[in-house]
Amino acid sequence: MNIIAIHHNCFIVNINNTSLLFDYPQSDFLPSGCHEILSQQLSGRRCIAFASHSHRDHFCPNLSTVLSSTNHATWIVSDDIADMYPEALPEHVIVMEPQQTYHGRDFDVTTLESNDLGVAFCITINGIRIYHGGDLAKWRWPKAPPNVDRAVRLGWNKALANIADFAPHIAFSNADTRVADFSGALDVIRIIQPDIFVPMHVFGNTSWINDLVSTLGETSTQIFSYTGCGDAMTYTPTEHP
Ligand SMILES: [Zn+2]
Repeated sequence: MNIIAIHHNCFIVNINNTSLLFDYPQSDFLPSGCHEILSQQLSGRRCIAFASHSHRDHFCPNLSTVLSSTNHATWIVSDDIADMYPEALPEHVIVMEPQQTYHGRDFDVTTLESNDLGVAFCITINGIRIYHGGDLAKWRWPKAPPNVDRAVRLGWNKALANIADFAPHIAFSNADTRVADFSGALDVIRIIQPDIFVPMHVFGNTSWINDLVSTLGETSTQIFSYTGCGDAMTYTPTEHP
């Protein structure tokens, strides 16, 4: 299986004949050429498209355009997307609220509540556990009052415990340097210790990923240090669940 970087929180995970697509953003948010790379990647494949919340850097109401090259597409979206863009969704869309589980034909999805908007996804497919956080992150904004900062830290610790319970092999989580602690990326790597960590929410500033790697020091987790759209990483599971 492999992971393809697209942009920001948008990635593809290819497992056999299935592609998982995450958080395809609005087109003005996407660098030129990304749409074409994405369409080529998904062409003729079965796709399960996940969208964590309705913010423009995570969901595009024209998602159907990018999915038109697929052989078959399943949509899994957060409830705020269904509220905001009902006309953009296909008839058989799967709408998920926080703390729900959906059992697909060959995959399971459980959602966690995001502390931003919408949900984070915990997906099990082919025995591989994949966490994609959307905008669930340690949002310790520099000028937040102490009580707000405390609430953020407590909420984040709860979220970390839930992610640890899921024990993902692959963790996609925000590494946004506008806030402290790479918005929780350091915690996810050090506490959860996934096989692979994929830094997200970098707005194309992939130097933030280098900063994360040099701050991190020694770790058993492999960091996907992509530099642009279409970069790929192969994953070979080390354990056989
Ligand atoms: Zn975002």
